[in-house]
Amino acid sequence: MKTQNLALDKHLVLQFKRGLLEQHRELLQAVENAEKEIRDCAGPVPLDAIDLSCFTAAKDSLFMSASQNRSRLRLILHALERLQDGSFGICVGCEGPIGLRRLQALPWASHCIQCQENSEAASLAGNATLHVSPDSVQGSGA
Ligand SMILES: [Zn+2]
Repeated sequence: MKTQNLALDKHLVLQFKRGLLEQHRELLQAVENAEKEIRDCAGPVPLDAIDLSCFTAAKDSLFMSASQNRSRLRLILHALERLQDGSFGICVGCEGPIGLRRLQALPWASHCIQCQENSEAASLAGNATLHVSPDSVQGSGA
């Protein structure tokens, strides 16, 4: 069975592309800002213990949002690649159509709702087993 991207006409593809490029630009900006802030933070390290914990927390949250943004950026780049090669809107799991409404909500979606739910259920199960793993490694005093 051929999976041709008939569901999306040129105008829609263009719309998605424009939206994705816009988001890509914004995210890149956000990542750059966060990384700049992290670099600035790394300069004068506060000696005060309270300041230090504050400083670490701020840095952690910066790292967190930067890495979230970076993974979002990757998704957007993949979506743009798929737009380029014509596989945009096709589920990479089952090769079925992802569905326009889902794409409009999540333009970078690479799975149809069905496959997404399946993989979420799978990763949830994986996380759960990871999460409940008992106090396995007790740091032996160095
Ligand atoms: Zn699918």
